[in-house]
Amino acid sequence: MRGDYSKLIFEISKEGRTSYSLPGFDGESIEEMIDASLVRDEKPRLPEVSERDIVMHYTKLSEKNYGVDSGLYPLGSCTMKYNPKVCEDIAALEGFSAMHPYQSELTAQGSLMLMHSLAEALCEITGMAAFSLQPAAGAHGELAGLMMAKKRFETIGQANRTKIIVPDSSHGTNPASAAIAGFDVISIDSGPDGLIDLDALQAAVGSDTAALMVTNPNTLGLFEKGIAEACEIVHKAGGLVYYDGANLNAIMGIAKPADMGVDIMHVNVHKTFAAPHGGGGPGAGPIGASEEMAAYLPGPNAAFKEGSYILQSPAMSIGQVRGYYSSLSVLVKAYAYIAILGGDGLSEASIAACLNANYLREKLSSAYKMPHSGPCMHEFAAAGLLEAAEGVHTDDVAKRLIDYGYHPPTVYFPLIVEEAIMVEPTETESIESLDDFAEAMLSIAKEAVESPSLLKSAPGKAPAKRIDSLLAAKKPVLTYWQLKGENNG
Ligand SMILES: *Cc1c(COP(=O)(O)O)cnc(C)c1O
Repeated sequence: MRGDYSKLIFEISKEGRTSYSLPGFDGESIEEMIDASLVRDEKPRLPEVSERDIVMHYTKLSEKNYGVDSGLYPLGSCTMKYNPKVCEDIAALEGFSAMHPYQSELTAQGSLMLMHSLAEALCEITGMAAFSLQPAAGAHGELAGLMMAKKRFETIGQANRTKIIVPDSSHGTNPASAAIAGFDVISIDSGPDGLIDLDALQAAVGSDTAALMVTNPNTLGLFEKGIAEACEIVHKAGGLVYYDGANLNAIMGIAKPADMGVDIMHVNVHKTFAAPHGGGGPGAGPIGASEEMAAYLPGPNAAFKEGSYILQSPAMSIGQVRGYYSSLSVLVKAYAYIAILGGDGLSEASIAACLNANYLREKLSSAYKMPHSGPCMHEFAAAGLLEAAEGVHTDDVAKRLIDYGYHPPTVYFPLIVEEAIMVEPTETESIESLDDFAEAMLSIAKEAVESPSLLKSAPGKAPAKRIDSLLAAKKPVLTYWQLKGENNG
């Protein structure tokens, strides 16, 4: 049967098959040319397959995959959107893609210029005074930002500021980064409206407060209306405000975090500015600072001095947090995206992202619980089905969506929403695409009442059924030999 999706490449292996033929040199084959002392005693345990086998195997695997170019990918808190292919083309230009990590500044002028311009663009978009492009991801930016806060308090003789305040609606990486940076984490509950409870914040701040970390829009997809006041409360107590700007695609070109009063922030360029992500691919989490905090930024960073671009570290820098020229390809894509869209284009993208989310939220509210009053920003968190047969839960809705041909949204996150279904359609979806998705979600809601077994037994059409994801995380089987119960030779 064509398309046996279950076979691993080891299982189609046949001894002696190869997918290469090397030309040899001067009448000698490659094998003969290699010194016998360098040749293995035993063949490595690799699959032996023809070129056609390999091509078919990986093509089948790719057909099993669901990617941003396959259809709507509504994962909330992730911004899985269509990314223009022209950005890929630009990142693939040889001057960028063939750069050597140890290339001197003198021969890397183009890349340094791009990095310098991107940092300037991020300053313009966010209002911050300076940016370092070093961090490799959002969470890495958070860690770098908190290290800056720590160094600053040590420098001014306030090392006793050991507490980081985190609202319970913040992204999970926030408390994790604070703990890794050596701070104590204080969580404060959100108010019934899903926003920071300013009284709770006032009660939590003190002479030991290092910083407040705010995700804005927060993980409920809500804009923190009290953010300016929150900054004031923290500043009055002598602390700093860290802004998690991973959700910048909701506000770029509309509002600037610096105007809200924040001191340090990161941007997820692999969410907001056109780098496909997921699957652990490269990202970048540039970190921005106010005038006062800029001296502590990681370094070296691109700077323009006496007619050329150089690498330079801020005076009180926490040091280097990422090697070489950081995630250059991701930065090139981000710069290309910003340059192509321009300021007006970026605002339009934010408006479309918010409009799309509100449109879907409204359409789904007849069958799904919306725990907070709208409007939402670029995403929203529903609290499961309004009505369902006994025992039908959010994960059943998610699994059933696979049968409808969709990648499910984020589920059971944020933790503060019961039965959470978190949807982020992004700005790149058309109204037809949103209508189709809404129709699938509403049809599933109907099934949840009338024929719940369809949901409980879903997915019916996927190559794998319900996977024990806890077991997969705790005891991963990552090689064929592990699967066979043998050691990898
Ligand atoms: C994605 C995300 C992060 C973490 O970013 P990574 O690049 O995955 O490390 C942090 N905060 C928010 C709000 C996010 O959405």
